[in-house]
Amino acid sequence: MSGSVPFVDLRAQYLSIKADIDEAVLALLDSTQFVLGRDVVAFESLFAPYAQSTHVLGTSSGTSALHLAMLAAGIGPGDEVITTPHTFIASVSAIDYCGATPVFVDIDPVSFTIDPRAIEAAITERTKAIVPVHLYGQMADMDPIVEVADRRGIAVIEDAAQAHGAEYRGRRAGSIGLAGCFSFYPGKNLGAYGEGGAVTTSDDQVARTVRMLRDWGAEEKYHHVLKGFNYRLEGMQGAVLKVKMAHIEGWTEARRAAAARYDEWLAGSGVEVPRQLDDRRHVYHVYAIRTDDRAGLQAHLTEQGVGTGIHYPIPVHLQQAFAELGHGRGDFPHAEAAADEVLSLPMFPEITPEQQERVVTAVRAWCDAR
Ligand SMILES: *Cc1c(COP(=O)(O)O)cnc(C)c1O
Repeated sequence: MSGSVPFVDLRAQYLSIKADIDEAVLALLDSTQFVLGRDVVAFESLFAPYAQSTHVLGTSSGTSALHLAMLAAGIGPGDEVITTPHTFIASVSAIDYCGATPVFVDIDPVSFTIDPRAIEAAITERTKAIVPVHLYGQMADMDPIVEVADRRGIAVIEDAAQAHGAEYRGRRAGSIGLAGCFSFYPGKNLGAYGEGGAVTTSDDQVARTVRMLRDWGAEEKYHHVLKGFNYRLEGMQGAVLKVKMAHIEGWTEARRAAAARYDEWLAGSGVEVPRQLDDRRHVYHVYAIRTDDRAGLQAHLTEQGVGTGIHYPIPVHLQQAFAELGHGRGDFPHAEAAADEVLSLPMFPEITPEQQERVVTAVRAWCDAR
């Protein structure tokens, strides 16, 4: 359809940096440093100051970053880890990989992130960590989370997979907890051309442990100190990410400008727009609106050629895969309401005001016809 607007457009971004990417990838092929290697090291040293962290360890995905950060925090069988059910399932799967039990706390319905006021009641003598998820690109309310964690002697591990460059009271995602976990899946704000992730930390011991665990637990080749994993970042992803670091701030500002246009143009339309809280820099990985007839709006937008997404339609506590936890509908009402009502509009740095105008016109036409 000629007037259609895609939900994301990864090709537009590739074309905008094609010469630099192609050169970096060809140089990587020539170097034959296909796994870890100099481009991964170069990327890690660019991402560390960006995430206000001393150490960055590239990993094979955001999920493996979460798994390794949790292991480095000492999480194991019998432990409990607190997170929210309104997230991508990987936040919870990583807890399960450690043999620990996920314990859910509901979200704050305005920010879609964990409600710090509800955390304390979920803490037991088995609680080892809290995993706030900086959902959609806005950081969780970190100060009260860190306060309760410190007071109760438990770790905070940030799921920053959607929050590259996001800020909370001037501090960047990945810099506040014991560790931060990022994803470079292609559609994320900083996307590789394949799978990728990273752990950020300013704790030397956590960095040392993650460095070993991602590479078979070896301190030096074939000297295995720990039982580790094949969770290394590929050289080609390092080459791509290194090039993209020169653009991430510009892309983030483009997302924020696009969000500001949506905010203004959708005001008073009848759908609820996302709220950026005063002390935060939202990086709009996702621009999620709310409506009580999500299916109706999504069908209308599809018919009008506007791509949409749902992040996420089923909260983790109601997923079949985690039925063993014994939860049911009504356990986390804010997460359940969000899952029923959120709809993600097209959002990517290269989206044009004309494309956004088509999206907004379609949303408003649906609202007016109700
Ligand atoms: C994408 C994502 C992950 C997992 O990252 P992968 O790189 O896909 O493994 C974890 N948590 C959240 C919130 C995510 O959005």
